[in-house]
Amino acid sequence: MDKSKNIETLAIHGGQQPDPSTGAVMPPIYQTSTYVQEYPGKHKGFEYSRSQNPTRFALERSIASLEGGNFGAAFGSGLAAIDCLLKFLKPGDEIVACNDLYGGTYRLFTKVFSEYGLKFTFVDMSNKDWDAAMSPNTKMVWMETPTNPMLNVLDIAAVSKKAKSAGAMMVVDNTFATPYLQKPLDLGADVVMHSGTKYLGGHSDVVLGLLATSDKDIADKMYFIQNASGAILGPMDSFIALRGIKTLHVRMDRHCDNGASVAAFLESHDAVDKVYWPGLTNHNGHEVAKRQMKKFGGMVSFTLKGAGFEKTADVVSSFEVFTLAESLGGVESLAGHPASMTHASIPKEEREKVGVTDNLIRLSVGIEHIDDLLADLAKALDK
Ligand SMILES: *Cc1c(COP(=O)(O)O)cnc(C)c1O
Repeated sequence: MDKSKNIETLAIHGGQQPDPSTGAVMPPIYQTSTYVQEYPGKHKGFEYSRSQNPTRFALERSIASLEGGNFGAAFGSGLAAIDCLLKFLKPGDEIVACNDLYGGTYRLFTKVFSEYGLKFTFVDMSNKDWDAAMSPNTKMVWMETPTNPMLNVLDIAAVSKKAKSAGAMMVVDNTFATPYLQKPLDLGADVVMHSGTKYLGGHSDVVLGLLATSDKDIADKMYFIQNASGAILGPMDSFIALRGIKTLHVRMDRHCDNGASVAAFLESHDAVDKVYWPGLTNHNGHEVAKRQMKKFGGMVSFTLKGAGFEKTADVVSSFEVFTLAESLGGVESLAGHPASMTHASIPKEEREKVGVTDNLIRLSVGIEHIDDLLADLAKALDK
């Protein structure tokens, strides 16, 4: 299916074709580790499932098509996808990253790859002089937008331009927005990374990571490392992810609509101090979000007025429809307490600097009926 089709069509058909051996419309789950060879070296292009698997290939073509790229790769988790990209680098190389990162990404950077001689610098990329942190050794620039959990919005085109002119590879973690809301490759990024565990899978039933790029050299290296390091996604999980992706656009529309209603409700509630959602006109990234995103997403964070750790923990534990759990992006609404859950691995003073205080609650607004979601929030907040 050619890339000029609309994303709603690509979500269903992008990179997909009926299975050549049977005509099956859905890609079969090729649950095999190996493939017959007619004669040594004579085969149908499939030798061993770490290197080639038709179900995984279908998912890889799907993410490439959705992101408007030419190449996709699927991994056993989002962090495994990040791990692949960091292995492009060598000791002495530097990475400049935004300072409001997913906790697991921060941990992989600072606790694992820093031990291998990579140097990470964290900056506020909404400050237009962020590139003062770049040096001739800066080989990669890493950003998330909207960021987790503060929903800061960064200007992908502006950041990419500076990365490019310094000769650094620009990577955007597009997990929160998905290609339905924003297309980083079109805005100048070299590589898009996803935790497909979240909105792309969309049903909280699979853990996976994805990369997409249009650059042939990057793709060659990406596939080499994917095969050489071996953190591939299995065929069953590839199938589940593909199935989820087919409804991406329908789910995202409802996530965004419900997110808007939840943000408006929280803004008007007396127990709430600040609300972070890029669709609010008072959000400091609103103008950039309006420019680079189709809609504003279903992630909403907020703080409770005058509350400490305990009171905030009580509130997140008292929801009935919102489930207290890590992760995000599934059809069900989730509530989280970043300071003790997703961001517990970031030192207290580091996380408080970027706004992850003890009274912060993060919501992944699902696609249930909005009245039930608002009633659930009201009940917990009115106490
Ligand atoms: C979840 C997440 C990751 C890590 O992905 P896993 O699939 O959990 O390994 C990376 N970035 C963001 C923004 C995430 O939300």
